[in-house]
Amino acid sequence: MPSRRGEPPEPLPGITDSHAHTWSREFTEDRGAVLDRAWAAGLTRIVDVGVDLRTSLLCHEYAAVDRRFVAVGGIHPHEAKHLGRDRASFQALIEGGGFAAIGEIGLDFHYTLSPPEEQRAAFAWQLDLALATGLPVMIHAREADEECFNTLQNWAHRASSAFEAGRPVGMMHCFSGNLELAQRYVDIGFVISVPGTVTFKGNERGQAVARSIPLASMLVETDCPYLTPAPHRGLRNEPAYVVETARFVAALRDVSPEAVAQATSATAARFFGFERAAETA
Ligand SMILES: [Zn+2]
Repeated sequence: MPSRRGEPPEPLPGITDSHAHTWSREFTEDRGAVLDRAWAAGLTRIVDVGVDLRTSLLCHEYAAVDRRFVAVGGIHPHEAKHLGRDRASFQALIEGGGFAAIGEIGLDFHYTLSPPEEQRAAFAWQLDLALATGLPVMIHAREADEECFNTLQNWAHRASSAFEAGRPVGMMHCFSGNLELAQRYVDIGFVISVPGTVTFKGNERGQAVARSIPLASMLVETDCPYLTPAPHRGLRNEPAYVVETARFVAALRDVSPEAVAQATSATAARFFGFERAAETA
């Protein structure tokens, strides 16, 4: 049954939101209720992602108190201009453990809130930190497709000896490129994360990607509080709405929503290392 705008989605048990920002000020008033709706919608994991030192620390704290949270820490390209100030503290935070990946990091030449040279420096430094700590990377790329790919292809080559065979080394968060670029990323050991924008009418490029890449290389995410999927477009996004994206992908591929939830969560488990964490618990 299709969801109604603004109402909680019909549950889809076992699903993972692979990219959220529940630390966002948009959730300050009602974060508890938002999380209650997420668990009620069937989510088993929320990957909470930092964009600077302060928010990476928040993600670390959430994961420390609730095992359903997975922490990812990084300095976003918009925040790259602060790298000089925060470098030592950020490195100590990551090296202290508790993070499943470094992100979101990358290049954004759309807004260019930090100068391109500073973005490139922060990106390169964090890619090196990922190799040194054995963590995979979560990438934000906007209007920088070819440069990002070239940088990551070189990095993936260096990473291949540092990671166990078969483990994905990177994730393209909120992927908005075409199918050909998605396949090139899969070929270098990356997974592709499908955001709520795939549900938008006219997003044929995103729908082609979601229809065609192997589910073993696919994640689903909200990027909440942004990029709200249909039928909730225009409202604040929240982790529960990842269910809408998974249902839409299932319809595109003519498979069951349960199959998409199960497969994308299994991909998330391999990428973020949930399985290892469960084994060593
Ligand atoms: Zn994000």
